[in-house]
Amino acid sequence: MKTEYDLFIDGRWIKPGKRFEVQMPYDGSVVGTVPKATQAEVGQAIQAAKKAAPAAARLSSYKRYEVLMKVATLMQQRQEDFARAIASESGKPIKEARVEVSRAVQTLIFSAEEAKRNVGEMIPMDAHPAGADRLGFTLRMPRGVIAAITPFNFPLNLSCHKIGPALAGGNTVVHKPASATPISGYMLAELFAEAGLPAGFLNTVTGSGGEVGDFLVAHPDVSMVTFTGSAEVGKHIRAIAGMKPVTLELGANCGVIVDDDADIELALGRCAAGGFAHSGQVCIHLQRIYAGPKIAADFTDALKARVAKFKIGHPLDEATDVASLIDEANAARVADWIAEAVRNGARTIIGGERVGRATVKPAILADTKPDMKVVAEESFGPLVCVDRYTSLEEAVETINRSRFGLQAGIITRDIQKALWAAQRIECGGVMINDVPMFRVDQMPYGGVKDSGIGREGPKYALAEMTETKTVVINLAGGPK
Ligand code: NAP
Repeated sequence: MKTEYDLFIDGRWIKPGKRFEVQMPYDGSVVGTVPKATQAEVGQAIQAAKKAAPAAARLSSYKRYEVLMKVATLMQQRQEDFARAIASESGKPIKEARVEVSRAVQTLIFSAEEAKRNVGEMIPMDAHPAGADRLGFTLRMPRGVIAAITPFNFPLNLSCHKIGPALAGGNTVVHKPASATPISGYMLAELFAEAGLPAGFLNTVTGSGGEVGDFLVAHPDVSMVTFTGSAEVGKHIRAIAGMKPVTLELGANCGVIVDDDADIELALGRCAAGGFAHSGQVCIHLQRIYAGPKIAADFTDALKARVAKFKIGHPLDEATDVASLIDEANAARVADWIAEAVRNGARTIIGGERVGRATVKPAILADTKPDMKVVAEESFGPLVCVDRYTSLEEAVETINRSRFGLQAGIITRDIQKALWAAQRIECGGVMINDVPMFRVDQMPYGGVKDSGIGREGPKYALAEMTETKTVVINLAGGPK
């Protein structure tokens, strides 16, 4: 694996003034070094993207399709290299990192396909009394330079969710990956260069979110910001973006209802996966389980038995289920939140202890209260709170008692109950007979409330990343 990357600006690799080290969160070993860009260097990337924007807008849909497909093919061929890079920089177990790469390939393929479907619509002009003799239609125009700011937890796939649709829509991009996980972002830029993407269409820079990110967001030559990350940074971006369109894919404290009549085996398998994948560092991580009154006790015991079997270890070890959080500070934060909950009456069913550098043992908590951080805030750690509900109405109300609303789940054999709940839960997506963590990359995806604004999934992101232009032809002067 290549370990030293330069800035990718205007199709060239540019030596930066300063660099920083990327560490493997699990053991602190150095994975590589990347640029710590200055605002001047980010300014160069924006100017390159601006200069290339007219050519990107003119590039045919077929050519956009072709380059995105080429990148998908190259990525598929190098799946293992990407997976090892993601596992090393993010601490994600290697088997989950491979899944991320295969998802990123799909995201690129769906983006390529959307490039061919980037059409407007005919407008029935004469349906209005004043519209006779007019022919109207819309075009989907690129917005121009799009700033794509991405988080650490899915460093490759979430970058593809922004870069893919942006290029499919004829835009140019300045991408700023998270400082903790920048290497897969630069590897992605390498693939685009190899696939023949013209210079300046994609520019990749790294550096501190506060300095470089703010500069990008506020820059007058950036026409749109697409951001995935925490609610706090998302709100700040919205505040400084001015009139620019902004899409925000933010955090959550997702919940699932496991009904008394649920398929318990299914529920256990999905809850174990949803609660602990990537040590809970997934935006649709299952944080809250509301179990039916008849099954709650047995379900909690059975979930404990599953969680006890997780193998904790090095991210590059094939057998590892749980490796580490992104850094020591987050491991300490999660352990503190658990300790605080326990001090206030919660019960640890299993786990919660810190081990090694940045690992927290998968934890299940019971007897929590709604205002505890482990329930009310986004834990972004390997912890699940199990609670018992008395009625479905109460369970839905409890799920809705959150400042977030990304995805939710209900596991029941009763479709009437499931649809009743799906209509009432306030969030961007409800998974029936599944946990909130289910996602395939083409579906519309995003949140309400503090979970964000706008939708991703290549078709939906493309809609956000293009502007509707209406064209009307006056036919009155033509042959009668
Ligand atoms: P984060 O701290 O908000 O950072 C996300 C990105 O924003 C990073 O590239 C970061 O750069 C940058 N940034 C930080 N401060 C900035 C500023 N002032 N202006 C502009 N950019 C700034 O989030 P994270 O810890 O990487 O990721 C975890 C969060 O992402 C969780 O809340 C999770 O739920 C959310 N998430 C949401 C989704 C979704 O689709 N809804 C998906 C995945 C993750 P630095 O790294 O340099 O600080």
